[in-house]
Amino acid sequence: MDKVLSYLTLNTRQFHELSLRARVILSQLPLSLTVVLIIAGGALFHPDLFESRSFLIGVALQAVLLAVCVLVPWDRLPHASFLVIPLLDFIPIGLMRYGAGTVITGVGLLTVFPVIWLAASGLFPRAALTAGFLGALSVVWVPVFVTDAEVNSSSLTQSILLPFIMLAIGVTIRVMTASMMAQQEVVEEKDRALQVLLEDSARRERLLDTVVNSLDVGLIAVDETGRPVLANRKLEAFRALAGGSGDTAEEDLHIYLQDGETVMPAVRRPTRRAAEGQVFSDYLLWWGEQPGQRVLSTSSRLMTNQAGTREGSVVTFSDVTELVAALNAKDEFMATVSHELRTPLTAIRGYLELLTTTPDLDPEVASGLEVVSRNSERLHKLVVDLLTTAEGPPEIVPVPTDFSDLVGRRVATAQERNSNPLVRLDDLTAPGLVALCDSSRIGQVLDNLLSNAIKYSPAGGRVTVRAAEVDGEVECSVTDEGTGMSPEELKGVFSKFFRTSAARNAAIPGVGLGLAISKAIVERHGGTITCRSAEGQGSIFTFRLPVAHIDQDRQLQAR
Ligand code: ADP
Repeated sequence: MDKVLSYLTLNTRQFHELSLRARVILSQLPLSLTVVLIIAGGALFHPDLFESRSFLIGVALQAVLLAVCVLVPWDRLPHASFLVIPLLDFIPIGLMRYGAGTVITGVGLLTVFPVIWLAASGLFPRAALTAGFLGALSVVWVPVFVTDAEVNSSSLTQSILLPFIMLAIGVTIRVMTASMMAQQEVVEEKDRALQVLLEDSARRERLLDTVVNSLDVGLIAVDETGRPVLANRKLEAFRALAGGSGDTAEEDLHIYLQDGETVMPAVRRPTRRAAEGQVFSDYLLWWGEQPGQRVLSTSSRLMTNQAGTREGSVVTFSDVTELVAALNAKDEFMATVSHELRTPLTAIRGYLELLTTTPDLDPEVASGLEVVSRNSERLHKLVVDLLTTAEGPPEIVPVPTDFSDLVGRRVATAQERNSNPLVRLDDLTAPGLVALCDSSRIGQVLDNLLSNAIKYSPAGGRVTVRAAEVDGEVECSVTDEGTGMSPEELKGVFSKFFRTSAARNAAIPGVGLGLAISKAIVERHGGTITCRSAEGQGSIFTFRLPVAHIDQDRQLQAR
């Protein structure tokens, strides 16, 4: 009943959202209220109306039907049961119309209420329209047949317009209701789809939350202005280590450079770099104060929207303290061992040189000394490589250098040392190239690329060296037709101690340090080194160096 009242007080609840019982009462109320109005009008102006038994029975029946609407638990009965009320409504209306006679005319128009109800219910449309028509017809015709009055064409057609008007109203209501119901169906369908989407997105959010917070890696997502949009618990723990809390700005965190003491400038900090759209991997930070300082490796990736426009970035932080400590220990070990090896090796090489220059050596001894000398040279190269690697970034003194001449000399030396004389060496370097570089270090790079190209070439293979100026840089490439590498192997080719399985299986001498050193040297010059290779077809190693400027050229000529 509360619902009915709240609806009557124009509460904004939708009619179809009410319970079936409330809807039945609401549908019956207009008729009942109109009957109350007729009674009131009759009491005021036509008291003789209440002398008619038919009228009084009609009113009583109408009251009974309203009571039935209120008392019957319609929600628990079969859905269409309520239609019995509008069908029964025709009886009290007929009785009241007959009773009112000529005292109050137009009572028959009350049939409009059950007709509208039947048509608007949307149930059994044709049957409902027919029932409405027949109901209205019986209101008009039954009195003609049950009273003593003569049944003739005049008495039958006197009020015949009423059922037809009711039929027309019923059809109109039916059409409007059908269209409204179709619209409502569409709206409800959209509502259901929206609900499903909402639930799905809530589920995804929970999943993301769980995954993000169970990671052992700190994670932060920032929008394109650098404002954090997501951060996980691990990141909060890391921030606490660097003297920060939830809202501490990144520039206020205690983050240091490799020496663990120099404060990292704000512009080089990872979230700032990511907010500027930079993408990086394995970027190391020394995090927090000593003791207990940690080393974090950070990486950033871009977030893009459907149109491919940058929407922000994600930065990850992983603790690599133990790994860095292990690598440092390995480098220290390598440095110590190489130092210890270098001293006796220097003595061995010195004495060997003395011995090999001794006159009138027995040819057998001379050839033995030759083998010892070759192997001590290999050992020496290995020790030098180990020391270079352990010492960290190489020291370089870049000066304008005649690059074409440098390449020519290194190719000639490689030709002399050629361990694989069946390999042909071609130098296609453009003349007059001047690069800004440290000639001994770049010579080391060239030696390494050339010796590799020869080592990994089959007999009869060809090694070609090319150098030219490209896009304001000196570009030099060493091409071979040798074993080549698989795409997987290619990924690790510049890593320390990397060797392909083909090199190991063929027992080709080497420890996998030459390319790592070459890369460090080229990058120290501000240059780049890359490799393209296809298994069984050969490889091309290309490095680029800055070109020397004109004033530097003059300096070169003056030397
Ligand atoms: P190494 O002393 O073993 O040659 P490098 O660092 O120079 O060390 O090379 C690393 C590895 O890369 C080699 O062991 C070899 O497996 C592979 N490699 C280098 N250059 C070539 C090449 N030109 N052709 C095929 N494989 C190569």
